[in-house]
Amino acid sequence: MNIPSVSGDEQAVGFYLRDYLESLGWTVELQAVSANQNNVIAYLNDTPRVFLSTHIDTVPPFIAATEDDEKIYGRGACDAKGIIASQIFAAEELRKQGVSDIGLLYTVDEEQGSSGAKAANLHPLADRCEFLINGEPTDNDLAIGSKGTFRLRIIAEGKAAHSAYPEMGESAVEKLLDILQDIRRTKFPDDDFFGETTVNIGTIEGGLALNVIPPRAEAGIAIRLTTKRAPVEALLEEIVEDRAKIEVLSCSEPVKMLEIEGFRQKVVRFTTDIPHLPNWGTPLLLGAGSILVAHTKDEFVLKKDLETAVDLYVNLVKKLLTT
Ligand SMILES: [Zn+2]
Repeated sequence: MNIPSVSGDEQAVGFYLRDYLESLGWTVELQAVSANQNNVIAYLNDTPRVFLSTHIDTVPPFIAATEDDEKIYGRGACDAKGIIASQIFAAEELRKQGVSDIGLLYTVDEEQGSSGAKAANLHPLADRCEFLINGEPTDNDLAIGSKGTFRLRIIAEGKAAHSAYPEMGESAVEKLLDILQDIRRTKFPDDDFFGETTVNIGTIEGGLALNVIPPRAEAGIAIRLTTKRAPVEALLEEIVEDRAKIEVLSCSEPVKMLEIEGFRQKVVRFTTDIPHLPNWGTPLLLGAGSILVAHTKDEFVLKKDLETAVDLYVNLVKKLLTT
């Protein structure tokens, strides 16, 4: 945790993980994703069937680790460096018990565009892997579904004019506000399994000065998808019509994951690397910590939850390897 690794700056933490895992006796590969970003892939033999996986990048800002008897605080405590630690301990425990068909996959850039996962998906080991246990803070519940994320920009154009003569211009801000109000009034399709589709108008930018009719305005929107992208995009196009442009930034659709008896199960609202790792076999999702403190200045994880996660991963892997 004390090696900063905000997305784009993961090199040092990748080198650290490589050295640490090599010192434990793992075979470690660095997979280059960009000039200074490497995925870390580790295994014990040529036939790893189950991989434990999460990401090594964090959101900004870096917050150094502190701890008390109960908790570890700081950036990455639960999202996702605590999870990395619990997965490595689980893998070591499995190794002690004679299990060697396992691997570890740590990606870069999950918090941005998942470029690490997209590169990892093309790695030759993916084809041999049957199950991918991804780690994100799920409160140690087995997530059996995760919503998708559809990110887009709506860009309205107008015509600048002196604000005293508004009839000479066309306000892009007012156009955008009308569109956003229509979006807020729209009921997007829900899904029985995944739940409610929610819309966040995350950013608004526009205008030049108080006394100028604004020629341009744009809003950034993140939609948590519970259906395929198509019906939501069609609704948006119907709302926006020719009043503005829709620019799609990224999209990952909702994913169903493996259900396993004996584990607490739930659907989570956030998106993970999993949609970008389809070649790595059947996905599962479980990790210590709460998504509600991830990405906040108060991020923490309970030490006992990390220990519980170790046991859960060990049990999960053994169950998967005997199916
Ligand atoms: Zn995460």
